Amino acid sequence: MFVYADNAATTCTSQAALDAMMPYLTRQYGNPSSLYGFGQTAKEAIENARKTVAACIGAQPREIYFTSGGSEADNQAILSAAKVGARKGKRHLISTAFEHHAVLHTLKKLEKEGCEVTLLPVHEDGVVRMEDLEAAVRDDTALVTIMFANNEIGTIQPITEIGAFCRERNIPFHTDAVQAAGHMPIDVEVMNIDMLSLSGHKFHAPKGVGVLYAKKNILLSNLIEGGGQERGKRAGTENVAGIVALAAALKESCDAMEENTAKILPMRDKLITELSKIPHSRLNGSMDHHVPGTVNICFEGLEGDSLLLMLDQNGICASSGSACNAGSIDPSHVLLAIGVPYEIAHGSLRLSIGEYNTMEEIDYIVRIVPQVVEELRRKSPIWQAMEAGQRPHLI
Ligand SMILES: *Cc1c(COP(=O)(O)O)cnc(C)c1O
Repeated sequence: MFVYADNAATTCTSQAALDAMMPYLTRQYGNPSSLYGFGQTAKEAIENARKTVAACIGAQPREIYFTSGGSEADNQAILSAAKVGARKGKRHLISTAFEHHAVLHTLKKLEKEGCEVTLLPVHEDGVVRMEDLEAAVRDDTALVTIMFANNEIGTIQPITEIGAFCRERNIPFHTDAVQAAGHMPIDVEVMNIDMLSLSGHKFHAPKGVGVLYAKKNILLSNLIEGGGQERGKRAGTENVAGIVALAAALKESCDAMEENTAKILPMRDKLITELSKIPHSRLNGSMDHHVPGTVNICFEGLEGDSLLLMLDQNGICASSGSACNAGSIDPSHVLLAIGVPYEIAHGSLRLSIGEYNTMEEIDYIVRIVPQVVEELRRKSPIWQAMEAGQRPHLI
């Protein structure tokens, strides 16, 4: 059996997205910047996509900028806000310890250039606290950037409260909503979001296309200079097919959100119930504030990467955290941020399911994982020492 359970890393392209983009990969190949009708057809497709995306998140079409993905949108949002802040002498940036590296590494770069960064702690439940934000904010705070939903543990942050807090103090608020878009309702007006990033391949559009929403009063600076595409804020001939596919996939996901959630939740609950029965396991992140499809669980006394390899041999695609960290020997910064001890964070498993998964696949996963965990533990010197009472069990 082949089971794809890594939808937080990427998703399959939906038929609706493929159908929408196909004409722009074949006969409608005009350049949107060309004046003749053939080019303008492509231009219209982009503008329709912009309207569709805007409607899905409660924005105005002119507040939507197409990018190459979530990482680019995160970079542009943060660098733009830092630049605007610096002009007013504001060089303090607030974020959290468990952001995606597209955010954390951009902040690191700004730190080297003279900005000060406060990373809010994330509590054991995987949720940031308003008190911590209130304590961190300063007169020279130029940006608050806090992710909507975490990519490794799936927890959702109090975005509406954070948005209201920032708006009251006139501090720009950016959120990396890559894991939320298409999976949870988003309204940038209601939530007082100034900038938001999303990425097509996390909701069944192809890879390499994303969106930066920036409220109309937000000044963006360019990462890429060149032509006047995207209101002069993102040069380069547009990825017309990708943009059209992103809009089709986002609309499809938003229209079917309730239905998809209703399908995913019982599957997720079965994963949690069954896998929690494995002795010395620990579920990471509170399930009270959570995207539907992501489950993150640690098994004491084993190595996450060995677990993934053995699951792969059994046809199961999963992750130990974020795909971007694959190959690194350090445990996930997200798990460490929520206080999972180093030794335990090594044995993490992220299963992220979507509406394309079936209950038969879940049954297969909950049959295979306990077998694999047991086999790995049998071979693990650490586990043997624990079982012999020479080392304490931590969970
Ligand atoms: C996947 C992901 C990104 C990066 O998006 P790309 O389109 O792959 O660049 C950023 N943030 C989060 C939370 C993600 O899950």
